[in-house]
Amino acid sequence: MHLLIIGGSDAGISAALRAHEIDPAADITLLLADDYPNFSICGLPYFLSGQTPHWQQLAHRTDFPGIRVLRGHIARSIDAVARRVHVEHAGALRPIPYDRLIVATGATPVRPSITGGTLEGVYTLHTMDESFAIDRHITERSPRSAVIVGAGYIGLEMADALTRRGLQVTLLSRSTDVLPTVDAALARRVVDELHHHGVRVVSGVSAQRIDAAGAGGTAFALRVADSEGGRHGADLVILAVGVRPSSELAERAGAALGVHGAIAVTRQMQTNLPDVLAAGDCATTYHRLLDAPTYLSLGTIAHKQGRVAGERAVGGACEFAGTVGSQSLKVFDLAIARTGLLGHEARDAGFDPLTVAIQADDHKSYFPGAVPLQLRITGDRRSGRLLGAQILGDRRAEVSKRIDIVAAALYQGASVEQLNELDLTYTPPFSSPWDPVQLAAQAWQAQRAARGRSV
Ligand SMILES: Cc1cc2nc3c(=O)[nH]c(=O)nc-3n(C[C@H](O)[C@H](O)[C@H](O)COP(=O)(O)OP(=O)(O)OC[C@H]3O[C@@H](n4cnc5c(N)ncnc54)[C@H](O)[C@@H]3O)c2cc1C
Repeated sequence: MHLLIIGGSDAGISAALRAHEIDPAADITLLLADDYPNFSICGLPYFLSGQTPHWQQLAHRTDFPGIRVLRGHIARSIDAVARRVHVEHAGALRPIPYDRLIVATGATPVRPSITGGTLEGVYTLHTMDESFAIDRHITERSPRSAVIVGAGYIGLEMADALTRRGLQVTLLSRSTDVLPTVDAALARRVVDELHHHGVRVVSGVSAQRIDAAGAGGTAFALRVADSEGGRHGADLVILAVGVRPSSELAERAGAALGVHGAIAVTRQMQTNLPDVLAAGDCATTYHRLLDAPTYLSLGTIAHKQGRVAGERAVGGACEFAGTVGSQSLKVFDLAIARTGLLGHEARDAGFDPLTVAIQADDHKSYFPGAVPLQLRITGDRRSGRLLGAQILGDRRAEVSKRIDIVAAALYQGASVEQLNELDLTYTPPFSSPWDPVQLAAQAWQAQRAARGRSV
């Protein structure tokens, strides 16, 4: 049985490792276009900030026993009938046959088609090579300023990273807030944090064009014109406006596409092509709360889907349990995390959502260092089902682990009341007898009851 895997990042390597673990006799070949198998691209902002000084530290592992890893090998086409992949390496093309194939080609950053979008000094960030190019630019040219186009999590992490590298950062956000994955009330706190650290935030605009030095007499190397007539000088521009799944290779072989142009897969990670599976950022994702496919480009999901695909490819019977949409990030000294659905997402899915906000200390205030957390909890008014939560607070206040409590409850289909009933730990330096997530659950129940009475 020859298992061929295209892609050597989170999904592809997870698939290979799991397949080898389940069937050590399986013949496994893994191709990757670049030279960096299993590097943590989630860590790129920390390499660029200097907090992770050596890029080699980003390797999740460097040893792949039982797996033939072919670096610098680019899959050019898949022949799903003859069961072979045409692979280019060092200028030569050769076919590699397979019995089972896993496509784990990931995602590609969107480069908006604006004038000047490919000028020197304008970068996207998704691969090791892109991070090296940005790092070289900063080291060799000593830029004073940067414009980041896009205020999602990568844009925000890069605002933090480039500020640490001494650049004056301007962040352009298309929406009226930053970080559209959380509610506006929390997004405003993120903006405050950015301001506090000297980042200029320009919201409600999109980049229209980028001009090179000299145009308009600017002292900067580049100048970004926005949709509201603003002009932003910069020596470096990062485009962070999202990703699209790298699904063309599979599509050309006849794979059906689903949400967001990603390869449509079942929960067994099977495509519509015989013996061709797909996993990670190139594929659709089953959402447990929506009970429907969605698209989410996250390493957490890529690892899990890859593991399922690897196990299935060698005859296992597992399936992908699904995402509940959990994400966290750090912006300077703030941690922001969410899981489940926001109110408007829940409404669109047919729920009757109620979102309740509270503030609570992360631990007992009589023990030094207590900090306030902002919590927002969403549940279905009709059934009492827990639908999601968002938490923001100091980065040392266990924000993301607290959201993980809610994620675990969501996974089990818990009600808000059951979240409140969980037996969580308590000692004054870490929490309270009722953890803040449970205080939020109680506040939700009280509001639901009060609204029920007033109807
Ligand atoms: C800056 C940044 C920060 C992030 N932070 C987080 C985070 O904090 N938490 C989180 O959960 N997620 C995070 N993510 C997202 C996460 O990194 C991705 O979801 C994850 O890497 C997807 O893994 P993947 O294996 O599906 O695809 P990718 O990582 O995109 O890898 C694709 C692989 O396929 C190979 N490939 C592509 N085409 C071919 C071809 N034709 N032939 C051969 N090989 C090919 C590539 O060389 C690569 O090895 C971050 C992403 C970025 C860019």
